[in-house]
Amino acid sequence: MAKAIVIGSGVGGLATAIRLRAKGFQVEVLEKNEYPGGKLSEIQQDGFHFDKGPSLFTQPANFENLFAAANRNFYDYVSVKKLDEANRYFFSDGTVVHAYINLQKFEEEVQHKLKEKPQAITSYLQEAQQLYEGIGKIFLDYPLHRIKTWLQKKIIKALSLVKLSYLFQSVHQYNEKRFLNSKTMQIFNRFATYNGSNPYQAPAMLTMIPHLEQNEGAFYPQGGMITLTQSMYKLATELGVLFKFNTEVKRLHTNKGRVVYAETQNHKIEGDIFVSNMDVFYTYNQLLNRKYKSQQIARLERSTSAVIFYWGVKVTSDALSLHNILFSEDYKKEFEQLFVQKQLPDDPTVYINITSKLDKSHAPADSENWFVMVNAPAKQATVTDEDLKKLKDIILKKIKTFLSIDLQTSIQTEYIWTPQGIDADTHSYLGSLYGSASNDKMAAFMRHANESSEYKNLFFCGGSVHPGGGIPLCLKSAVLVEQLVTEKFSV
Ligand SMILES: Cc1cc2nc3c(=O)[nH]c(=O)nc-3n(C[C@H](O)[C@H](O)[C@H](O)COP(=O)(O)OP(=O)(O)OC[C@H]3O[C@@H](n4cnc5c(N)ncnc54)[C@H](O)[C@@H]3O)c2cc1C
Repeated sequence: MAKAIVIGSGVGGLATAIRLRAKGFQVEVLEKNEYPGGKLSEIQQDGFHFDKGPSLFTQPANFENLFAAANRNFYDYVSVKKLDEANRYFFSDGTVVHAYINLQKFEEEVQHKLKEKPQAITSYLQEAQQLYEGIGKIFLDYPLHRIKTWLQKKIIKALSLVKLSYLFQSVHQYNEKRFLNSKTMQIFNRFATYNGSNPYQAPAMLTMIPHLEQNEGAFYPQGGMITLTQSMYKLATELGVLFKFNTEVKRLHTNKGRVVYAETQNHKIEGDIFVSNMDVFYTYNQLLNRKYKSQQIARLERSTSAVIFYWGVKVTSDALSLHNILFSEDYKKEFEQLFVQKQLPDDPTVYINITSKLDKSHAPADSENWFVMVNAPAKQATVTDEDLKKLKDIILKKIKTFLSIDLQTSIQTEYIWTPQGIDADTHSYLGSLYGSASNDKMAAFMRHANESSEYKNLFFCGGSVHPGGGIPLCLKSAVLVEQLVTEKFSV
């Protein structure tokens, strides 16, 4: 039986392992950490549970398909709740907008709070759907590096739907023309951050993203996001995937255009097929010692990183929901600081996720688990203790101003994840959350393919390669790897 070695057990690695095993390959996963999941992991501290990375769950259909590929029902493993409200947006003048999933309710809310015509929202979301279904899906579901992809009728049709206005306007320029109120623009600009991009630079093509949340819906896996990792890990082990934790791959050894074995601290692990779920920059730079190739990859602009404060707080906040956004006053300046000056914004947008709103077991009585995140630039320089202290003060002040909550004295426990921590823990280059950014209109074509053009048996999955970062796309990368592997190798 042909043996596949998967390097890394992030979302992409786990999904690839399941898919290849379900096809009949022998599969071994080598993971440097002592736990699976990569960015999708958890923190248990002083009676509080925190999901460590992703908090927003969209498109559960990707999980349904993954489990179906192994003849299982995803919902036998995870209980999923559809949310009534995707986000709660707070502005400095006291305006609060509830982004209801129900279109009519959302339109009424935006009309009432922002004086926006309901028709503006309806047509915007309809266009987002057409954009996603007509173009987005095709670009995400096919290997773009293959010539035969471009000869298919579906692709030619999708290309004909690409209006120049989607390519040559930024997300913000597009939104400016669609809405009257700058707050509505800010709400819809924010969706560019769902893949770590800059709404003032990224092409209007990204205006398809709200379709995923506002039309298809936002979801919550009961027990927290960690249940997604746990369910994939459980399924993989049921299928017979072998996991080796605390096993860091140091080098991939090649011979005559093939990877022959993976070298770990103590072992040489041979295989027929190798799939790297490690960031593609590090795969070339460290595992293959291909410095020039890795520098080419590094030239692509990185998506944002983040600083996250995990605070267990002795507070019950009625004003807050599961997902809450405290917006910055000057959104454009915030992105200039992130992408141009490459510094922490002095007035950051603050995202607060509180899963104990839905899962009481995630915090002790009369307390809540606050995941408080701000965007940060992905860059070499370290976020220092002094930077963190300053940032914490800014965030606490903002929470006090926006929510009238004095959190300082209520923090019972604290854990902090910085860009350097994200890089060290998951080997994500410069701590980027989503690999390379989508600020350039050619970004989709410049992302690395899911297979190597030089090594016949080397494949790539996860957020640093096609089709990009975020849980849904990492799961799609596994579908593509399965297709490419099964084209070349038989069991
Ligand atoms: C704070 C934060 C918030 C986010 N929010 C969201 C969100 O709300 N919604 C969403 O969809 N996405 C979100 N994301 C992005 C999402 O988490 C990622 O896109 C996705 O989890 C990345 O999965 P991956 O397959 O690329 O693997 P990764 O999670 O990057 O994991 C890679 C794995 O490979 C292992 N590894 C690396 N090198 C080696 C080696 N040499 N040997 C052995 N093992 C190795 C690592 O230890 C790690 O386990 C967020 C990310 C973060 C950090």
